[in-house]
Amino acid sequence: MRPFAGIEPSPAFPAPRAMRSAALDEGVATLSRVGGRTAAGLARLGISTIRDLLYHRPRRYELPAPRVAIGDLLVGQDATIEAEVVSASIRRTRRRNLSIVEGHVRDESGSVMAWWFNQEWLAGRLVPGARVLLRGAVERGNFVVRNYDLRGDGGLEAILPVYPASEAIASKRVRELVRRVIGRIADLGDPLPAELRSRLRLPLKADAVAALHTPRSMAEAERARQRLALEELVVLQLGLGSRDGSAGALVAPALAPPDELVSRYRGALPFELTDAQERAILEIDQDLALETPMERLLQGDVGSGKTVVALYALLRAVESGYQGVLMAPTETLAEQHFLTVEQICAELGVACVVLAGGVARKKQHAARRALASGEAAIAVGTHALIQESVEFRSLGVAVIDEQHRFGVEERRALAPVGDGHPLEPHRLSMTATPIPRTLALTVWGDLSVTEIDTLPAGRRPIITRWVTHERSSEAYQRLTRHLGDGRQAYIVCPLVSPSEAIEARAAEDEAARLRGQELRDFAVGCLHGQLPTGQRRAVMAAFGRGELQVLVATTVIEVGVDVPNATIMIVQEADRFGLAQLHQLRGRVGRGADQSFCLLVSRPKEELTDAACERLQALVDSDDGFALAEVDLELRGEGQLLGTRQTGLSDLRFTRLRSDGDLLEEALEIARSLDVGDGPLADEVARMFGDEDHRGIA
Ligand code: ADP
Ligand code: MG
Repeated sequence: MRPFAGIEPSPAFPAPRAMRSAALDEGVATLSRVGGRTAAGLARLGISTIRDLLYHRPRRYELPAPRVAIGDLLVGQDATIEAEVVSASIRRTRRRNLSIVEGHVRDESGSVMAWWFNQEWLAGRLVPGARVLLRGAVERGNFVVRNYDLRGDGGLEAILPVYPASEAIASKRVRELVRRVIGRIADLGDPLPAELRSRLRLPLKADAVAALHTPRSMAEAERARQRLALEELVVLQLGLGSRDGSAGALVAPALAPPDELVSRYRGALPFELTDAQERAILEIDQDLALETPMERLLQGDVGSGKTVVALYALLRAVESGYQGVLMAPTETLAEQHFLTVEQICAELGVACVVLAGGVARKKQHAARRALASGEAAIAVGTHALIQESVEFRSLGVAVIDEQHRFGVEERRALAPVGDGHPLEPHRLSMTATPIPRTLALTVWGDLSVTEIDTLPAGRRPIITRWVTHERSSEAYQRLTRHLGDGRQAYIVCPLVSPSEAIEARAAEDEAARLRGQELRDFAVGCLHGQLPTGQRRAVMAAFGRGELQVLVATTVIEVGVDVPNATIMIVQEADRFGLAQLHQLRGRVGRGADQSFCLLVSRPKEELTDAACERLQALVDSDDGFALAEVDLELRGEGQLLGTRQTGLSDLRFTRLRSDGDLLEEALEIARSLDVGDGPLADEVARMFGDEDHRGIA
């Protein structure tokens, strides 16, 4: 990596003073004019301290637009105009969430109406006679302003960082806050040893952070990012390297080769396994033959057929005389898995039980007894499986679905209890949130990774459309056409609040409304997290049997629900959902051979944030979970992709998961040559690993 033009790495940079560095860990609320709402908005972006602000990576940059005289403006062309305000007023629209500030502006060549959406307060600042710099483009006859400079304080003609932002806080506001704290970069110090920096000609960390936020060229911005990503990956490696690898001593039962039960299972499946599934099974079989406990991660996009592979692993335990357990993060998912597992187990003559919070006490007791005695061979359940030390007679294989929703400790807790059986189970974790292999291996050094990279044959890609409210009746027409053809449908209700109770009410109300209106002629069920388990199971079963044609639901259907005859989904107020969540939701359709549709209904574009527009457009453009995960990461500026919550790691901020393979290699090498010691590098490691004991200087 090359240093920045003109900036030589300077080994003489003063050693970081702990006090000053610690001041960077002050909360953002200590900044003047940052109130509770801003702080809360920032918190949702993962920013709570000044340091977090400095580390907030722009997701893209806006290049300055050429200066154009008003008379020469072309429709749709990005331009900067310098103009004089003639008059300004607020125009209200019929739409509740939309107001427009109209500013009549002119220069020597002509005049134009400039439009700002939803910034009423601006009207008062557009004083007649004032000179302004506006950046935007002509759309439908008006100059839609995307950026402006009302006071001539510059910035408009520099490269502008665009930050991950949210409904609660705009990118522009984030930019302003970053500008205010950028002067404190010197306090960052540089955790990388001076010798290393000069050998690799790395710019100083402070310079890299400055260049990240105020680059003079795009190349400089990218070099800055790489410099910071490299450091971050080195710190990651160092932290991982110092974790103790105590797993080595554990012993699991070595299973005999595949036998008659799994071949009957294969025979009972109504389809051929895909090559990717076969490969996964082969790798699992190799692991199961060993006494070292399997620690395998099965990655595959929604609908790629992971569950089929998981059940295979469970049955491998059963045919060798051991038990299998499948743990899922939610009751709905556990229920759904149980329906699938129970059906096939009945066919194969294997006894299985379900253990989840909502199951009746008596049944729970019976299930526990059956597991302790070995009478039940397979258990499916939720956290309930680990919360009250369920005893297995001889657990051989544990499958953890949506593993990123569980903590390491929770996964480990699926282990033998009591004195029945001293061996560890083999573990198979599953995730639909794919992580690049190299990075997965880095973060979970002790985990092998299998990817199911193809969908079952005959699947047609889901067609995704983004429609606005005004046209939602067309969406419902399409939906009723599907119902008329004997297909089934999902309607996902908006995320109304963090309260499940309120959300449940909203879903009930919506179901009632639809039963009275658009879906009068159809059987409409409603599913949400507040239904008692028995009822929820009944609704899902009725939908599975086709007795219910439409399921109006909250995000409880996000994972696991599997009805191939459902071919259309409408997501209401889709702009309120996260990208990953929408992708998961969409995965509920497209499970059969027929063309499926996903219709995302949102408010009009003008009322949405850029990020919301980009999320919805990304879904329309792609159904590749991997690509979407990356877009999501870019938009949110968070490293949640890694499922780092579970490793105790904070997020990777600067690394680009897909393209930074080389940096990762370089970081590995550097980390090997470094000694963490107890200097600034150790502080960084502690910070990344959320190690409170080592954080900052008390
Ligand atoms: P995942 O858990 O990865 O989201 P599932 O295992 O639930 O996916 O599979 C999704 C759907 O595809 C299920 O209806 C399943 O029965 C079906 N399926 C799985 N494997 C195949 C296959 N090889 N061919 C056809 N359909 C399959
Ligand atoms: Mg699944």
